[in-house]
Amino acid sequence: MRINDNYLNLKESYLFSDIARRVSEYKEKNPCAEIIRLGIGDVTRPLPAAVIAAVHKAIDEQSSAEGFRGYGPEQGYDFLRRAIADNDYRANGVDIQEDEIFVSDGAKSDTGNIGDILSNDNIVAITDPVYPVYLDTNTMAGREIKYIPSTAENEFAPNPPEYRADMVYLCSPNNPTGSVLTREKLKAWVDYAISNNAVILFDSAYVAYISEPDVPRSIYEIDGAKKCAIEFRSFSKTAGFTGLRCAYTVVPKELSAKAADGSAVSLNKLWLRRQTTKFNGVPYIVQRAAEAVYSPEGKAQVRETIAYYMENARIIREGLAAAGFKVFGGVNAPYIWMKCPGASWDFFDLLLNRTCVVGTPGSGFGKNGEGYFRLTAFGTRENTLEALERIKKAF
Ligand code: PLP
Repeated sequence: MRINDNYLNLKESYLFSDIARRVSEYKEKNPCAEIIRLGIGDVTRPLPAAVIAAVHKAIDEQSSAEGFRGYGPEQGYDFLRRAIADNDYRANGVDIQEDEIFVSDGAKSDTGNIGDILSNDNIVAITDPVYPVYLDTNTMAGREIKYIPSTAENEFAPNPPEYRADMVYLCSPNNPTGSVLTREKLKAWVDYAISNNAVILFDSAYVAYISEPDVPRSIYEIDGAKKCAIEFRSFSKTAGFTGLRCAYTVVPKELSAKAADGSAVSLNKLWLRRQTTKFNGVPYIVQRAAEAVYSPEGKAQVRETIAYYMENARIIREGLAAAGFKVFGGVNAPYIWMKCPGASWDFFDLLLNRTCVVGTPGSGFGKNGEGYFRLTAFGTRENTLEALERIKKAF
């Protein structure tokens, strides 16, 4: 018996445990300090009322023989897939069919699991800094990984590289940099994927935070993308489902990849096979909750919550700029990426000591994150205002 040795190539992630350790050491020395955490990537506002009502109703349905639901379709109930296709795509002029949508328990699992249907010999390109799941799951599979530097010079939205890759992970709006891929950049990536016979794995978990009208909401707004891209979306950051768990992945029927014998195989068919084999679906109750996000009340409540977080983002962005920092992101994303004086971890300690504010060192997201720092808009208004007052006074 042997293990999957690729797991031994994973870098131990100390980022969040190191943060926790440094904060608790600081608290021991300064027991009265009022710590404000702006490092968290989890939402803090309660679920929309429309979602809560849908959960209650769906639970009540389970008490009668007619309403009871056991195993459902692995790829999601028709009512939710229809709501997704209508609201997230057709309403924006993008024609996605219900059977191209796969409901799941998270974009984290899907962005990792998608590798099941793709060869381990593929070369993977990921941006640096990056959401660590793409890196770690492909390390587990033993794939060769190439990094695309995401830097201030390319506005943290890199162009395609000179070399060939088979799989490309793109995340827009981006975690951790808060940047977005413009229509032109996204088109360059779609052209690159088509000419290299590559697949783009497009993570738009933060699509709900886009505020500028000309930023693409979906990669399928770009001509040709259905032939080369898989899109991941999530209810987590859109509607507070980080605990409830619901997301979806779009695998267009036009998308195919080569088998060893040279024949073209539909990725939609492979993903359906993978999901129906390894996944037993998202609970009915949770899918009814997700459906409620698209009701008129649900939409209004989601808009209100996003506006709340984005006002926090504005406060952070403008407050940091007023304190003399160079700031990126925070306009189409709940993440603010700032240039810090010196190394990321030194700034972490400096900020903690001077202001009792906790953020995330950029170096934790990759080599190119060194010298940067991430703050999130997911705190309370009160804490966000207080944190920025402290920062403005201290720097
Ligand atoms: N994708 C990105 C870029 C994220 O930042 C996160 C969560 O932080 C996820 C996916 C995870 O989404 P989910 O909660 O649907 O698994």
